[in-house]
Amino acid sequence: MVTVDNLTVSYRQHPALHHISGSFARGSLTAVIGPNGSGKSTLLKSIMGLLRPAGGRVTVNAPRERMAYLAQLTEIDRSFPLSVVDCVLLGCWSMAGAWGRIGPELRQRVATAITRVGLAGFEQRTVGSLSSGQLQRVLFARLMVQDADLILLDEPFNAMDSRTTAALLDLIHQWHAEGRTVVAVLHDDEQVRAHFPQTALLARELVAWGDTAQVLTPAHLHRARMLAEAWDDNADICHTDEAAPALVANSTRQAERTSPP
Ligand code: ADP
Ligand code: MG
Repeated sequence: MVTVDNLTVSYRQHPALHHISGSFARGSLTAVIGPNGSGKSTLLKSIMGLLRPAGGRVTVNAPRERMAYLAQLTEIDRSFPLSVVDCVLLGCWSMAGAWGRIGPELRQRVATAITRVGLAGFEQRTVGSLSSGQLQRVLFARLMVQDADLILLDEPFNAMDSRTTAALLDLIHQWHAEGRTVVAVLHDDEQVRAHFPQTALLARELVAWGDTAQVLTPAHLHRARMLAEAWDDNADICHTDEAAPALVANSTRQAERTSPP
């Protein structure tokens, strides 16, 4: 579904991902893990086509409207004046009829998704009035109605209580059983071992990628920690990679850091 070929992505010539290669098979369920700043979010944004590689390439075998992306919570602009129901409806954009008409079927789908994430009764609340965990649930509901083949989740369980996390893990397993390809950035090794058959371990470079049991070894985790401790954000300019980094969709750095929910 996704092939990553010798991918390097830099921010102002500082590589955040360095010569990464691997693939996400169609229907696979993969965790992306690594220390803070190891390039996990950068990898997801590169798959979504939001960042232009400095070297190498990412190939996705799905049209844009069959891809769904949950951004890391810290990057989401919560001041956007949108109700819960409208936010979830945004997931239907590719299915809406002429003039963006939303029929009763789509409305029902949205209502079902909002109920599934435990937010029935919250439909008219603005997203800005929700707790972080509630907003994450709204965004999961939006993913549910989106019906994507490739689903990318950046730290989806941040700010969530354990009961909600368990319910949303069930949803991820359901997506997996339906043959969708799911990639999730996670932090909890035990959760990864219990629920994710495949893992990619990053530390700006790739430490290991494959079956979770083979990736999450003490030696690999140790290597990732050592690489992270050796980072020097000011010294690490990469001269070998041709093109300057550029944002494809937005031109300002502010836009790069925030996106509407
Ligand atoms: P992770 O998600 O693993 O914590 P990121 O992919 O967000 O890591 O970031 C990787 C590195 O790139 C970090 O050093 C981070 O500071 C840097 N970085 C991320 N986004 C930007 C940006 N917009 N401008 C400059 N540097 C950035
Ligand atoms: Mg991140």
